Amino acid sequence: MNVLFEYSPHPRLLQQLAKGSLDQIQNLTRSVRLWALLRWLYSGKGYISLGESFTYTDWRKAFFTETHKDEKQEDILKHQDPNCACIKTTKQWLLDCGVTLDEWQYSLQKEIQILNADIEKLLEERLFAQVRKSLQSDFDLLVSRNCLQRVNNIAGRKKYYRRLENLPFSHNSDNLTTGANLTSKAQAYVAGALGMFSFLDPSYPLLAEQISEYIDEDNHRVFLYVDYVVPESSPQQDAVDEVQSELQKIWDSGEITPVLLTYHSAHQNQIKECIVYPVCIYFMERAKYLCAYGSTPKDEINWYKYRLDRIISQRLESLNWQDPRVPQLLR
Ligand SMILES: [Zn+2]
Repeated sequence: MNVLFEYSPHPRLLQQLAKGSLDQIQNLTRSVRLWALLRWLYSGKGYISLGESFTYTDWRKAFFTETHKDEKQEDILKHQDPNCACIKTTKQWLLDCGVTLDEWQYSLQKEIQILNADIEKLLEERLFAQVRKSLQSDFDLLVSRNCLQRVNNIAGRKKYYRRLENLPFSHNSDNLTTGANLTSKAQAYVAGALGMFSFLDPSYPLLAEQISEYIDEDNHRVFLYVDYVVPESSPQQDAVDEVQSELQKIWDSGEITPVLLTYHSAHQNQIKECIVYPVCIYFMERAKYLCAYGSTPKDEINWYKYRLDRIISQRLESLNWQDPRVPQLLR
């Protein structure tokens, strides 16, 4: 049974064929040409027109009309035979293959940076109006992309090619979107974000794994960094929880007063008494911090983030606003 290539030119598939980033218009044009070439080679027409193994010249004779010349660019541009494949624009290739132009343009612009004007230009281009040298190197690129095979056991200087029985594309390359209508980039992002928030809910890493399953593994990998902010209970962890709950009580009381805390500053390698107005607690890089305004370990009055596990006071002391220890700037 002959293998057919009927994939649509989804950006992910084009990227697999391309030599370099699709952001470069010439790479995009070339990969669209390679896609069209595959559609032709692996079609009923392609199998009828070309034997099992074939040379570039065999292909040229089958693909273009008899009067087509391929040595000089000027001859190609002059060729006006309406039946010749060199006349067909990219747009015609896409339409003949049943591609909806609007959808294709949309999927392309979701994945790569490309202006409407550049797409328009590409659509109007005569896709195969290329000299022999370029087209021959297309065949070699298809070989390197595992879409064609070189046949080695034929004597002579000519290069022979053969179609393969398996092509390196997965079926879901044809899906423009998967999951909740997210691009693969967005899915990778969501999966990564869920992994980061795993400390909030242990089911997040599982969800992240499920999402990342849909992502085309040839092009995207998601590395989940799963780390729990709340490890097994430890005396240090208990102390952090205690500080947090004391702060919580202060905030819940509705009357927030300055607090006195004893802080071990790693930067200064000193233990400092700080009087601060507590604002909030947040997570950063696997630790909890108190964001507060007041006297800092650097002996300034400023905003500072105090790592909760470095607050070493037995308990936080709430101070009256009139307390002389409260710095004037804080009042
Ligand atoms: Zn021609």
